[in-house]
Amino acid sequence: MATKYSESIKENAIQMAGLIGSRKIAKLLDIPRSTIRYWINDNHKRQVNGWSRVNKYKYKERYKERNRAYAKEYYLKHKDESEFKIKNNMRSAKWRKTNINYLTNYQKNNKDKFKTYKAKYRARKKQNGGGFTEREWIDLKNAFANSCLLCGKTELEVQLVPDHIVPISFGGSSNINNIQPLCKRCNSIKSNRENFIDVINL
Ligand SMILES: [Zn+2]
Repeated sequence: MATKYSESIKENAIQMAGLIGSRKIAKLLDIPRSTIRYWINDNHKRQVNGWSRVNKYKYKERYKERNRAYAKEYYLKHKDESEFKIKNNMRSAKWRKTNINYLTNYQKNNKDKFKTYKAKYRARKKQNGGGFTEREWIDLKNAFANSCLLCGKTELEVQLVPDHIVPISFGGSSNINNIQPLCKRCNSIKSNRENFIDVINL
């Protein structure tokens, strides 16, 4: 795929596809649409990677001290209560990942059950207390190069949501030092797994 077309054809095709769509440009240049789509994806990936390579380092440096302090505090505070759970939780996270359809269907067929769960969750959240401002959330995301801590995808590709490091169900508060940015998908896979380990390893 790489040798058949020149770089300039490739670049033009990507640019034109952005303007008139990949179907039309495929016809016009007589190149399979799948090839053009592959180029577009590849190009996008390269742009995103380039962006995060440059910016990750910048943000990491800027917030290094603060992140380390956060991470250490978490680790010391919650070490005992969570270490034993991590292995089990890793296993169940893996299971969830491979059985995502089963879970979605289960959720659909048990709507009332999930409504109760949600109500309980909200009550618990209120009880645990805490909260953070929009500014704090933005700063936190910046500190991690606006990317998901689990899969590494940036906000260019995914929507980041505030995830409780120590889960609400384990008594975690909603203060900013118990929050980490995850994408929606990772957040739903993670569920109750205590994840401060990921922050520490940054
Ligand atoms: Zn993610």
